[in-house]
Amino acid sequence: MGRNVLVTGGAGYIGSVVVEQLLARGDTPVVLDDLSTGHRAAVGPGVEFIHASVGDRGALGRLFARHRIDALMHLAAFALVAESVADPEKYRANNVTAGRALLDAAVAAGVPRVIFSSSCTIYGHSGSEPIREDTPPAPMNPYGETKVEFEGMLARHAQCDGLASVSLRYFNAAGASARCGEDHEPETHLIPNILRVAQRRAATVEVYGSDYPTPDGTAVRDYVHVLDLADAHLRALDADLDGAVALNLGTGQGHSVLAVVEAARAVTGRPIPTILRPRRPGDPPFLVAALGKAERLLGWRPRHSSLDEILASGWAWHRAHPDGYRN
Ligand code: NAD
Repeated sequence: MGRNVLVTGGAGYIGSVVVEQLLARGDTPVVLDDLSTGHRAAVGPGVEFIHASVGDRGALGRLFARHRIDALMHLAAFALVAESVADPEKYRANNVTAGRALLDAAVAAGVPRVIFSSSCTIYGHSGSEPIREDTPPAPMNPYGETKVEFEGMLARHAQCDGLASVSLRYFNAAGASARCGEDHEPETHLIPNILRVAQRRAATVEVYGSDYPTPDGTAVRDYVHVLDLADAHLRALDADLDGAVALNLGTGQGHSVLAVVEAARAVTGRPIPTILRPRRPGDPPFLVAALGKAERLLGWRPRHSSLDEILASGWAWHRAHPDGYRN
């Protein structure tokens, strides 16, 4: 039987694909989003959309009074590392304080299960080994700190209220579904910025840091297709795990910035010039997932996350939406 799932941030990049997949299999998503970085057009027809903040206690009270919610998928957050370094309070207020209001309201309404968008940024790792879930958190920026704090709240609720939760620690989300793609302003993520240059909407790809201790000096990341991330949410919903569980979602494969640019040149057939810039504050050199736990507990494996499939899907979406969701 389909479940009623509250999806915060469902008008955002990853949330919109989660909503698509929930709908496709017969669940009933309800989207709560304040459209601070999301797009109303990213939420498909036939989905209830509530335009409010996760910190709006009045809106939450009305929502939980009207709907019996079987699970909360909490994706809403601010998610720009550099902005969090410049304005940590903005990140605490939204990702922790507003998030706590949501969690309190969900627990009070008897919601039994939470699936939370955590991040590899919590690790702040300086080595060059794939990162396991039991690596102690050591975030290098305030954004990562907010994710550690929210995971901590979930762990306390598991003990005090029996709330079951799965924190999905995404590595670098990338790619697109046929309908939903990545459209942020400003865009700080590498792949959409590369595709903008391929579309000649920007002149060069800015490469932040070329003196990292990595094979070509540029930062290494683990890119995971948004379709695979959304699939993990559905599996986390079905798995009915107890307690507070944290799982890496990545591929176990790292790609340097320059390797991604090279792959994009091949996929798009466009030149894609680059320009080297200094490192950005808060960016670790190497973030790659150690795999195994998500497969063991959820039966999840990335199926769409080859760099070519990621780039080809993102390229198709950007070509179909040259101005993002504005057309
Ligand atoms: P996004 O900015 O596209 O989506 C976030 C959505 O949340 C937006 O629609 C925004 O309007 C909404 N939102 C923000 N604050 C809100 C609030 N207070 N109330 C209601 N809605 C609010 O970002 P995304 O890339 O889709 O990321 C989704 C989640 O995944 C975030 O929690 C992010 O931290 C996490 N994450 C993303 C990545 C990635 O690579 N994109 C990696 C790790 C973790």
